[in-house]
Parts: sequence; structure tokens; C-alpha cells
Amino acid sequence: MDVRELWQKMLDELETMIPALGFDTLMETTAPVNVTENKLILCTNSEVSKALVQKRFLIHIREAMQMVFPMLDDVIVITEDQKENYKTKEDEDIKPLGNTWEDSHFIKKYTFDNFVVGSSNEFVAAASHAVSEAPGKKFNPLFIYGGVGLGKTHLLNAIGNHITNNQPKLKTLYVSCEKFTNELIEAIRDTKNPNDAKKAFRQKYRNCDVLMIDDIQFISKTDATQEELFHTFNDLYNAEKQIIISSDRPPREIQHLEDRLRTRFAWGLIADIKPPDLETRIAILQKKAAEQGVVVKPGILKIIAESVQDNIRDMEGLLTRVISYASLTNQKEINENILNEALKDYTDDQKEMISADTVMSVVCEYFSVSKADLIGKKKNKEIVEPRQICMYLITEFLTTPLKEIGNIFGGRDHTTVIFARDKIAEQVRLESRIGLYVKDLKALLLKK
Ligand code: ADP
Ligand code: MG
Repeated sequence: MDVRELWQKMLDELETMIPALGFDTLMETTAPVNVTENKLILCTNSEVSKALVQKRFLIHIREAMQMVFPMLDDVIVITEDQKENYKTKEDEDIKPLGNTWEDSHFIKKYTFDNFVVGSSNEFVAAASHAVSEAPGKKFNPLFIYGGVGLGKTHLLNAIGNHITNNQPKLKTLYVSCEKFTNELIEAIRDTKNPNDAKKAFRQKYRNCDVLMIDDIQFISKTDATQEELFHTFNDLYNAEKQIIISSDRPPREIQHLEDRLRTRFAWGLIADIKPPDLETRIAILQKKAAEQGVVVKPGILKIIAESVQDNIRDMEGLLTRVISYASLTNQKEINENILNEALKDYTDDQKEMISADTVMSVVCEYFSVSKADLIGKKKNKEIVEPRQICMYLITEFLTTPLKEIGNIFGGRDHTTVIFARDKIAEQVRLESRIGLYVKDLKALLLKK
């Protein structure tokens, strides 16, 4: 990958993080120069833009870099006249230092050091630590489950970073369940070299010392995926290689999981993460504020911690919002006024967000069907129609990935969702009876 490609990938991420106006400015004033000693050098066209980029965008640029190429350490912003000092050969490939095993780029900022431990996650943190000290020896597999935004991905990366630092020779592989599935499908589809492609896939997943699969609840029900996962599991397990799996729910609640996998997932240790209590949430906020180099008064942190209870990612988002309000209005001290403003915007945003759950409730009420039936297996028209309409509405109102919509509807395949979406869209176009229902429902939802 050369530096322009890297920057382009980062821009793709940044576009979703910063407002359009800021994003345009960033694109126009900033260009990548080079990667020197694991740092990305970015050049801006003036001192003013440099100051702006540093003040407003650096946090996001770092975050995007962690997402795209986490093996890099930092970003340095310079102006044109400093460029000569940083210039080396054009189009040089980025070769990070350290462990270069493919895919084992862990997010550097997710470590055990900055994972705050309280009673809600004590057990899972201890288990993760034990596994990272002696992979394959103690709890195998380690199965971590808990709600969205509670630190599963953080812990997997912390384990990865710990192993990379202490036992750099071990091949440690982190993969999202989605990526695992996609790579497998590609390998199966590769009709030109079917054997090579499958071999490469197996080579990759069965020859590592530690395999982490994040968000296993998205496992597809296709036989091929489950079969491959089963054999991967067996090979690794028998060779005493560590397997770590995360999920938003325990194995018994993952639909479509073959029993032989379900039982294997329970062979080692199953540990859950619960939402942290107030004290722990405040401690997390303190850490996050310190990471951003900001001191926030305890009283303010407490109010933030009280406002968001069961999703740390959202709570962190609120903190970032408060901090950026203060910096945008040039206020050194974060006071109640800033906090109230940020909180108000936050709750407004929350209100604007229609959830899949809301859509389902509205559809159930409208057609007088139960939610259990809506996501269940019944195939009679009275249920199938509302179900398909509901899927369609979710694709219209939300950005939920198709796969996840399939999951919400009792673990149906994403192709089922696509079928429903297209069928109902056609009915809407024809303004048929179904099309009219949809119109009604949209009006009801917009009122929410
Ligand atoms: P999940 O994968 O469970 O959805 P993440 O691991 O992505 O959640 O965590 C969401 C955010 O919350 C991350 O920024 C993470 O650092 C933070 N977080 C969650 N739990 C903790 C904790 N105990 N200490 C510090 N940060 C945490
Ligand atoms: Mg995650």
C-alpha cells in the first residue's frame, strides 16, 4: 500500500466522522507526504490550516488511522516548508515495524492498561489477561459475550496487543465474523483456482497460534461456513492453539449455530460483560478524558455517566461532544452550560433515531400481529406480509446492515431480506394494496 492509498482509505473513514464542511476543508488543504518511522506525515498548505487540522481533526485522523492501518503509531502535521525534511523516495511501500503477520494489526489504543475493571467485567478481564499470558494453555476457547459497546472488541485487541508485545513470534489473527465468512465465500467462488483459493484460506486460518473471531452472532447459516468454522476450530483446538470468540449473546442464543459448534464453544470458558456501574463508568470517563489531554470536573463526569448507562461507546461519544463544544467555543473550563448544550443535542439525536424495535412495534400494532410471529417461522399470508413490509421499512428508515436485519428476524439469511425489500418496493411503486399500507406506516413512523 502506498501513502496515497492509505490516506484515501482514511478519508473514507473520516467522511463519516466529521461534518461535510470540515471534511471538504481537510481534503482541500491536506495531503499525505510519507510514512517515517511508523508515523504518517501530513502536509497542510498553510500555518492556519495546520493549526486547524491539529485542533479540530487530529483526534479523528488518529482514529481513522487506527482503523485503517493500526500498526502506525501517530500522525505528524507539517507545512510545505518542512516537507523537505520528511521526504524520502516517492511511492515507497509502507512497511511498519514490528510484527508483520498478515491481519494482526491490533488497535493500539485498546490495551489492558486502559480497560477499566469493575464488578461488571472483573471476571472477563481476568480471563482475558490469563489467556494473553499463556495462549492455548488455560481457557480454550475463551468465549466472551455482552451487549453492544461494552468492550468486547477492546478486550480482544488488548489480548492481541499483549501477545504481540510479549510473544511476537506467535501468529495472532483477529477477524470479524463477517470477514471470515466473506473470505470463505470468495475462496469457494474462486472458480479459476478453486483448490488454491481454499488452500490459502485454510493456510491462513488453521496455521495461527491465536485466532480471534469477533461478533460470531453474525455467523451465516450456510452449511459451508459452519463446516469450515467447525474444522478450523478442531484443527486449532487439537493443536492447542488459542481460540477466542466474542458475541453479543451466549452460544445457546445464537440462532442457526450448529449444535456441534455450540457445544464446542462451551468447552473452555464462557465469560460475560455486563453494563458497568456508575463508579466504573465515571472511572472510564476519567481515563478517556485524560487520553484526550483534558481535565473534566468530577461533577460533570458524573452527570455524563448518569446520562448513558448501558453503552460505553455512546457514553464516550457524549464526552467527546462535550469536549469539542468547549474547544470550539474556546472555553478552557467545561462548565454546566456546555454540558447542558451537549446533553440536549445528544438527547435530540437519540429521539430522532428510530430503532428497528420501533419499526417492528408499529408494524405489529398496525396489523395486529405479535412480535413473536413477526420474527417467527409462520408462513401464512397474514404474517408474511407484515414481516416483509417490516423488513422493507427497516431498510428504508435505518442503515442497519442486511445481515443484521436478517438476524433480528430470527436469523434469516440476508438474501431473504433483499427479496422482501425488493418485492415491497415494487408494490410501493405500483401503489397496490400493500403499497398503501406502507404509505400509512411511513406516516406513522415519521410521527414518532
Ligand atoms: P463492543 O465490541 O462490545 O461493542 P467496544 O469494545 O467497541 O464494544 O467498546 C466500545 C467503547 O467503549 C470503546 O471505545 C472502548 O474502549 C470503550 N470501553 C468499553 N468498556 C470499557 C472499559 N471497561 N474501560 C475502558 N473503555 C471501555
Ligand atoms: Mg465490537
